[in-house]
Amino acid sequence: MNWRQHILFALFFYGISLATLYAAGGFPAPGVVALGVAVTAFFGLLPDIDTEKSRIHKVVVPLLLAASIATAALYLAMQATVFLVSFVVLVVSALSLKFLRHRGFTHTLRFGILTALPLFALSPHYGLFALVAFISHLVADMHLKL
Ligand SMILES: [Zn+2]
Repeated sequence: MNWRQHILFALFFYGISLATLYAAGGFPAPGVVALGVAVTAFFGLLPDIDTEKSRIHKVVVPLLLAASIATAALYLAMQATVFLVSFVVLVVSALSLKFLRHRGFTHTLRFGILTALPLFALSPHYGLFALVAFISHLVADMHLKL
């Protein structure tokens, strides 16, 4: 599947998730539904961050590098440790993507849960949308591993 098909597949399951929430009486607010589309698109592509040819890799790596530069500048300007730690985490994240093998760790349920956890903390709806989209990618790849 290419990136467009992965997004469409994830949005299909997003629709099922929304219908299920509606039937259960817990339909989210319109703003949450709108942002849920972006969460679904991102997490529907996220497993393929392990390959340089993927759309998500080409979007995320420059963002990580830009954020690294921004946090380095903030650290130099303000000397706050949080910016130094953020800089190290961002640089390590960007560099570690170079060493991933395709359909390895990023194509596991563990990685999906790990990356969706911050969204669950933000809102259970976003966490659910992220996890459903992530799993839809693994299902589409026929690569569902723990
Ligand atoms: Zn994949």
